[in-house]
Amino acid sequence: MIRIDLHAHTTASDGSLAPEELVRLAKQQGVATLAVTDHDTVAGLPRAIAEGAQAGVEIIPGIEISCLYGKTELHILGYFINPDDPHLAPALTTYQASREERNPRIVQRLQELGCALTYAEIKAAAGTAIVGRPHIAQALVRRGYVTSISEAFDRYLADDAPAYIPRPLPSPAEAIGLIRQIGGIPVLAHPVYISRLKEPFEQVCATLKGFGLLGLEALYSSHSRQQIDRYRSISRNQGFLVTGGSDFHGETKPNLLVGTGYGNLAIPADLLEPMRALATGGRCAG
Ligand code: AMP
Ligand code: ZN
Ligand code: FE
Ligand code: FE
Repeated sequence: MIRIDLHAHTTASDGSLAPEELVRLAKQQGVATLAVTDHDTVAGLPRAIAEGAQAGVEIIPGIEISCLYGKTELHILGYFINPDDPHLAPALTTYQASREERNPRIVQRLQELGCALTYAEIKAAAGTAIVGRPHIAQALVRRGYVTSISEAFDRYLADDAPAYIPRPLPSPAEAIGLIRQIGGIPVLAHPVYISRLKEPFEQVCATLKGFGLLGLEALYSSHSRQQIDRYRSISRNQGFLVTGGSDFHGETKPNLLVGTGYGNLAIPADLLEPMRALATGGRCAG
């Protein structure tokens, strides 16, 4: 089976490997096609594409955009996007600004909770990256307030933890519409993490389909066999593409590897055929 991976992050957002390093690791892992899907940025794509051409790994230009459905945060992946489409940059500027407004407030809350750390040190460690909670988690580990990233989320940063500050997010219609507008295929990411819905999940899928959603990430590092079967069946009912990805981040998700996830992820290359047909058929343009 030819192996692919349609969900991975780089140092352009909250991954710990540079785009070139990610692509080389994917190559080592036997990944033939890799989608680079950083949060709220396409800055890593040119370097990933250049390294992919060198290493013989096909790179699909992607992105991951957070949005809010009622009180629930959903992540929408976009595949085969045109990163140079003029509609993209203004939207990304807005999403990035909402992070820069929120992040110092999270740090302030942490200070109030007794953690001596500054946003300046987090920014310095992040370099040019779009800063996310994983960067803040790493600072908490460095400073010795927690011993792991997951402890940082559990004790401080998770949605129900004391240092959580929400940020304004686009609606699902906006996020999905933007991806369609820039020629991409919008796919609902990691359904297993979607919680606190007021309606049955499949009903949410139908609503998102109405906004233009085209796929569901049924294959995912932490999905069980039963979950994969369930999400495949929902995809069939809704007429969605089935996609799959590891959500590789490097250091902030220990033991999770590009291509193989926690060890038993195997995403077949034949999932790409219907995606390519949509991407090149001009039916994605909004
Ligand atoms: P943000 O985009 O700043 O709201 O941060 C959310 C990101 O943090 C997600 O996209 C994940 O990559 C990461 N994340 C969320 N929960 C955890 C966790 N428990 N452990 C590690 N990373 C997490
Ligand atoms: Zn992330
Ligand atoms: Fe995500
Ligand atoms: Fe992700």
